[in-house]
Amino acid sequence: MIARMLEVTALTKSYGDVRVFANVTLRVDAGEYVVLVGESGVGKSTLLNCIAGLDDADAGEVLFRGRSIGALDADARARWRREHLGFVFQAFHVLPHLSVADNVALPLLLLQRPDDARVALMLDRVGLGTMGARFPAQLSGGQLQRVALARALVHRPALILADEPTGNLDPVQAGRTLDLLAASPNWLDPGVTIKVPRVRVYGLMVHSLGTVWSSRALGRQARRLRARIRP
Ligand code: ADP
Ligand code: MG
Repeated sequence: MIARMLEVTALTKSYGDVRVFANVTLRVDAGEYVVLVGESGVGKSTLLNCIAGLDDADAGEVLFRGRSIGALDADARARWRREHLGFVFQAFHVLPHLSVADNVALPLLLLQRPDDARVALMLDRVGLGTMGARFPAQLSGGQLQRVALARALVHRPALILADEPTGNLDPVQAGRTLDLLAASPNWLDPGVTIKVPRVRVYGLMVHSLGTVWSSRALGRQARRLRARIRP
């Protein structure tokens, strides 16, 4: 049997005495696109960090293609993230001393796969084709968010975790970003266009490359997740 792309089972997390979430269970197949919607403070960012192995859950398990992320040591986790994960941080985490193009190029450099053409394509896709030489301080919040998105997708990760990737964008830019995330599996085949419903995205977007996702699955998953994560 082919392992699922991502399998989160009974994940539980507290900070001290404060329970953030309990028993979060979620499955994502290749090509599926999952959106988690929840109010501020319900634990969306914490859940993403736990899935990415950036934070440790207290109980439960995260499997990526059948492999437990929690069982990896720190080095192996870092290598796993570098190779397979694209993470769009809520606070961007763009490096201030690197140009926009160098920020986007970073995941490829860490993998020792520099590819200037790919970086230029990514900047173009997020509407920043003329801004590669600028520094982050010279960009607006919405532009920084798009740099973060280009950086998360540049190395074609199998799994994309995006934390409020449209939070700083106007509705038009937000729509473009969702299109970009949904269409990224098809970038090798530019003839294919996938339309994304214009949902407001508050939290988790888990996007795994592979077969074409269905918007019905998206709605169902979002509801399922919302039911599970509410305290
Ligand atoms: P969301 O992303 O849904 O807005 P968060 O995951 O950021 O929510 O936070 C969930 C809860 O955990 C909040 O009550 C927040 O105050 C708390 N929290 C988040 N990070 C920490 C931390 N490092 N230490 C203690 N509490 C935290
Ligand atoms: Mg958050």
